[in-house]
Amino acid sequence: MKYLIENCGCCGACVAVCSNKLLELNENEIIIREGCDNCGRCEIVCPLGAIIMEDSNEV
Ligand code: SF4
Ligand code: SF4
Repeated sequence: MKYLIENCGCCGACVAVCSNKLLELNENEIIIREGCDNCGRCEIVCPLGAIIMEDSNEV
């Protein structure tokens, strides 16, 4: 996944849906830990298009 920090509104929606709990809301950005399996959940819930799955096989 690709994180576009300039689009992020720090709503925290992606943090809540990451099945691997890789995302953490910092003061003005999302911290992303290693281990992303490109499940695509965070992209789906992001209201601002700040997360893009660039190499996803998901439909
Ligand atoms: S694609 Fe899935 S595993 Fe990766 S950060 Fe988003 S919700 Fe977490
Ligand atoms: S869902 Fe989108 S706007 Fe909200 S914190 Fe995550 S990346 Fe930022």
